[in-house]
Amino acid sequence: MVFDLRKILRANVRGFKPYSCARTEFAGEASVLLDANENSLGSSLPGEYNRYPDPLQRRLKERLSEVKDAPVSRIFVGNGSDEVIDLLIRAVCEPGRDKVLVFPPTYGMYEVCAALNDAEVEQVPLTQDFSIDIPALAGNLDERIKIAFVCSPNNPTGNCIDAKAIETLLERTRGIVVLDEAYTDFCPDRSFIRRISDFPNLVVMQTLSKAWGLAGLRLGMAFASEDLTDVLSRIKPPYNVGSAAQALAIEALTNGAARKEEMVRTILEERARLARALAELRFVRKVFPSDANFLLVKMDDPRLVYRRLIEKHIVVRDRSSAHGCADCVRITVGAPEQNRMLLAAMKDIEG
Ligand SMILES: *Cc1c(COP(=O)(O)O)cnc(C)c1O
Repeated sequence: MVFDLRKILRANVRGFKPYSCARTEFAGEASVLLDANENSLGSSLPGEYNRYPDPLQRRLKERLSEVKDAPVSRIFVGNGSDEVIDLLIRAVCEPGRDKVLVFPPTYGMYEVCAALNDAEVEQVPLTQDFSIDIPALAGNLDERIKIAFVCSPNNPTGNCIDAKAIETLLERTRGIVVLDEAYTDFCPDRSFIRRISDFPNLVVMQTLSKAWGLAGLRLGMAFASEDLTDVLSRIKPPYNVGSAAQALAIEALTNGAARKEEMVRTILEERARLARALAELRFVRKVFPSDANFLLVKMDDPRLVYRRLIEKHIVVRDRSSAHGCADCVRITVGAPEQNRMLLAAMKDIEG
C-alpha cells in the first residue's frame, strides 16, 4: 500500500497555521527580552523559571538523538506518551468519521483518546497466545482506519509482538502504525526506531516513565519521518514540555544511563524470582511470560486476592475484565523488599 501522508491528514490539519509564539519568531541571541510578557525580575523559586521553555526542545532532542541513534529531525517530544497518542489521533482522524484500530487486550489510553476525539474504535482481538491475528486483520482494514496502535511489549500481557506481524500491518494499511515501545528496555527484541526509514507510516513511541524511572516528569517521545514529526510539532501546544522537565531529562540522558541499566538488571532478576515464586502458589493457575516490568497472573479468585492485598496495603491491577485476561491480575515488579512483602501476603492468602 502506498502511503501518502497528505491524504490521511485531517483537512484542517493539512493547512493548519500554528500559534506563533514569541520564542519561535525570534530565535537569535538577545539580552533584553521584552517580547513574551514574562517576569524579567526573576522567579518566585530559587531556580530560573521566569522564561518560557524552548518550544522545539532543541537541546533535549540533541541528547535524545545521541542516546537513541536517530536524527533530531525525526524526534518529537510530548508531555508524556499520552500527549503523543492524543496528537496523533487528532492529526489524522476526522471526528465522527474516521477510525482507530486497536488489538485488545492492550493499553487503555488508545481507546480513551479515540473516544475523546470522536473516532470510532475497531478492535481485532489478539489470539489466545497474545499475538496479532493476521487473517482476522485482513478483513478489517477499511479505508476509514487512519491509525493503528500496537503495543510491544504489550500492556497488560507482557509479551513482545512478532516483528513480522508488525511489518505486515505496516505494509497493508493505508494509515499510520504507532508502535508503543514503552517497555522496550525490559525486552531483548530490538527497537523499531532503526526501521523508520523503511516505513514512512511508522511512528515509534518511547517514554522516560518506565525504565528511566521518570514518570513524574511527563516525557514521551515519538520517532517518525520528518514529515510526520513536522505535523506533530505544528499542532502541539507551543510550550508542551516545561523547562524543568526538559532540563531534568537532559540530565538523566547525560548522567543517568548507568543507573537506568542497573535498575533494569535488578528488575529483570526480580521479575524472574517473582514469577517462580508466584507460580508455586496453589491458587495461581498461570504466570504469563513477560518482557516488561510487570507480570500477568491468572488465579482462582482474582477479586478476592485483590481485596485481601488491599487490606495489607498492597495494590495490584485487577485486569480480569479485559479481553482474554479472565481471572488475571497485573503485578508490577517492585523493589526487592516490596516483592518480598507481596509474596508474604500472597502466602498468607494461600493459608
Ligand atoms: C506506561 C505506558 C506508557 C507511558 O506513558 P507516559 O504518558 O509516557 O507516562 C505508554 N504506553 C504504555 C503502553 C504504557 O503502559
